[in-house]
Amino acid sequence: MELINFNAGPSVLPTEIFPELAEAVTNYKGTNMSLLEISHRSSTFVEIIEEARQLVRELLKLPEHYEVLFLTGGSTTQFALVPYNLLPVDGVAGYLDTGTWSSKAIDAATVFGDVDICGSSEQDQYRFIPKDYKIDPEWSYLYLTSNNTIYGTQLHQMPETDGVPLVVDMCSDIFSKPIKDIERYGLIHASAQKNLGPAGTSLVIVNKNILGKTGRDIPVIFDYLEHIKKKSVLNTPAVFAIYGCLLTLRWLKKRGLNRIAKDNEKKASMLYAELDNNPLFIPKVRNSEDRSIMNVTFDLAKAGHEKTFDVFCENHGIVGVKGHRSVGGFRASLYNAMPVEAVETFVKMLQDFTWRFG
Ligand SMILES: *Cc1c(COP(=O)(O)O)cnc(C)c1O
Repeated sequence: MELINFNAGPSVLPTEIFPELAEAVTNYKGTNMSLLEISHRSSTFVEIIEEARQLVRELLKLPEHYEVLFLTGGSTTQFALVPYNLLPVDGVAGYLDTGTWSSKAIDAATVFGDVDICGSSEQDQYRFIPKDYKIDPEWSYLYLTSNNTIYGTQLHQMPETDGVPLVVDMCSDIFSKPIKDIERYGLIHASAQKNLGPAGTSLVIVNKNILGKTGRDIPVIFDYLEHIKKKSVLNTPAVFAIYGCLLTLRWLKKRGLNRIAKDNEKKASMLYAELDNNPLFIPKVRNSEDRSIMNVTFDLAKAGHEKTFDVFCENHGIVGVKGHRSVGGFRASLYNAMPVEAVETFVKMLQDFTWRFG
């Protein structure tokens, strides 16, 4: 049975990349060497990371003064590196609290300076995106999480910031659509394992003009400027994961971000339409303008139905549809690599479930 993989991360990758990725393990491009065994300083790897960097620039139309890094440590490491590199010792940064990942970013920033939490939806279990918050033009940056993987909310419109640079955790929606007004962003970070490639590397895109202004000493390994100088090979990067990203980036380029965005909209609207109309299911996010097109979260309407639904999913080849342990319920992650047809199949399965158990 062909499986449909709704895992939230690590998650589905384009099936088209696997033959090349697999071949690289035993014989990378006829070199008789495994990509797992070569130096990260070899010309073979330098070509890989350079092409990956170039594709990121092309896909997001990055201006010259933006740098592209592939670092280790996940987005969780970026929670600390962002304030370390961007929050001056006597500075203040604004943070919007839209869930677990932004709370963790806030905790990390508090170690380095003053944090102004400008809005929070914690009171409502993070089921919406706060909107009426004040932005202080004195802030060093405004930190946002564009897609809240656990709750299924998404910021579809970036706020007007009056020149304050946006720093955005795009871990779970990077490359799901083109980015508008890139110059408004000071920094974007995203671990690979949601929408970009295998786990092990994180993409960091940064406007280099905002770096080097904190007035504090930063150990080399935590300093974005040092990583820029060394072109992401200051120390050993995640060689194989970066190759996986390169193959995904080529796939993205072939489709184009406009088509990707269209397909993502289509998948999400199909699934939300079913959840809204089917009496057995309740979408967790009521406000449609805050709904994520990447992670669709829902509950079952009838108590005691969950076990039945679990088994039904298993029998239909549906994998990874359980909600995050902190919120329960269910979640279908519809990342770029999830085909439209797979979501159609899932919607039909929900209808079958209702016909049998409704
Ligand atoms: C998964 C996720 C993270 C954490 O990524 P790690 O690679 O585990 O550090 C951070 N932010 C968001 C929005 C995520 O979805």
